[in-house]
Amino acid sequence: ESAGAQDDCLFCKIVAGQVPATVVRETDTTLAFRDINPQAPTHVLVIPKAHHKDAAALAAADPALAADVLRETRAVAEDEKLDSYRIVFNTGSDAGQTVFHTHAHVLGGRGLQWPPG
Ligand code: 5GP
Ligand code: ZN
Repeated sequence: ESAGAQDDCLFCKIVAGQVPATVVRETDTTLAFRDINPQAPTHVLVIPKAHHKDAAALAAADPALAADVLRETRAVAEDEKLDSYRIVFNTGSDAGQTVFHTHAHVLGGRGLQWPPG
């Protein structure tokens, strides 16, 4: 999977500033912004700026970048003062993935059920 910007990718457009987002953190390699349809009081998406279709592709192609994303999930949780939170990578459409530019959901601020649906 190419790591260049994909013309038809919503999250590449957010990285490029072509689609607005409420950005909460940015590094050289990652962006974190609020989910447009939040499922918890804190619902932030952390993405690599480079395009990888899902977590599996990212882990295979660039494990150091995957680590950058993971480090930023922790930073978001700290910024949001979350003691308990969930990190989710929906991987594949049957798992609920709808945007095929990998993203970590950081969810917190309420009790969360396990197992998820
Ligand atoms: P997925 O279902 O692929 O794991 O998660 C995609 C997430 O992206 C969903 O939670 C959805 O609400 C969010 N989303 C979809 N379109 C936009 C958008 O234009 N802006 C933002 N900030 N989030 C979006
Ligand atoms: Zn993309």
